[in-house]
Amino acid sequence: MPICSLLKPIRDKMSAQENRVMALSEWEDRWQAGKTGFHRSEVHNLLESNLDKVVCGRNEVRFFFPLCGKAIDMKWLADMGHTVVGVEISEKGIKQFFAEQNLAFNEEPVPAIPGAKVFKSTDGTISIYQCDLYKFSSTVGGKFGGIWDRGALVAINPCDRQKYATLLMSLMNNDCRYLVDTLEYNPELYKGPPFFVSEEDVKNVFGGGCDIELLESVDAFEKKHKSWGLDSLTEKMYLLTPKAQ
Ligand code: SAH
Repeated sequence: MPICSLLKPIRDKMSAQENRVMALSEWEDRWQAGKTGFHRSEVHNLLESNLDKVVCGRNEVRFFFPLCGKAIDMKWLADMGHTVVGVEISEKGIKQFFAEQNLAFNEEPVPAIPGAKVFKSTDGTISIYQCDLYKFSSTVGGKFGGIWDRGALVAINPCDRQKYATLLMSLMNNDCRYLVDTLEYNPELYKGPPFFVSEEDVKNVFGGGCDIELLESVDAFEKKHKSWGLDSLTEKMYLLTPKAQ
C-alpha cells in the first residue's frame, strides 16, 4: 500500500476542523449568554508549574495575554510585580474581570485603533485592550518579555493560525519566553472551539521564528469533555523562544 494511503486517516483528522470559522459576534454572544465554560476560577496549574521557565529570574516582566477573557492568571502575575497587557473582544468579559478582581480601572480610547478601548487598572499593572486581536500590534502595545497563551491559539479560527503566529512573534522581545497551551483530541468527534492543535501545527506556524520545546503533556480529560463526545483529551504545553539571530 502506498505510504500516502496509510497517512490518509491522519490527514483527514487534521483537516476535520480546517474550515471552521467563528465570527467575533459569536464570542460576544457567548459572553452575553454567560456561556464561558472556558473560564477557570483558579490559577492555571500549567502556568504555575512552568512559571520559573517563563520568568527565568527576571523581575517586572511585561506579560502579554492574547484573547485574555477574564483569566485570573493576569491578577496572579500582577501581584508578583509583573505587568500584564491583554487583548479581548468582549467588553462584558473585561468589565467582569475588573469587578471580580476588585480592581478599580479607567477606560480610554485607543487612537491608533478606531473603535477600540483600553481598560487600565488604576495601579497601572494590568491593561486590557478591547479590540480584535488582529488590530493589535507592537506599535500600539510595545513588545513583551513573557506570553501566556491559554485558550488563544486553540480558540482562533484554524485558517488564521499563520497570521496569529506572525503577529505574536512580532510582539516578542529577544528575551521573550512564550508558553502556549494546546489540546489534542479526536477532531472528528468535536467541532471546537477549542480546536485540536498538534505539535506539527505549532511547528508549522512558529517554527520559522522560534525554538519550540515540549514542556508537559498531561491527560486533561474531564466530565465536560464526555458531553463533547470525546473519550480522551491531552493538554500539551510548549515553550517558544525566539531563534538566536
Ligand atoms: N484565555 C482566556 C479566554 C479563552 S476563550 C481563558 O483562558 O480563560 C477565548 C476568548 O477570546 C474569548 O473570551 C473571546 O471573546 C476572545 N476572542 C476570540 N476571538 C478574538 C479576537 N479575534 N480578538 C479578541 N478577542 C477574541
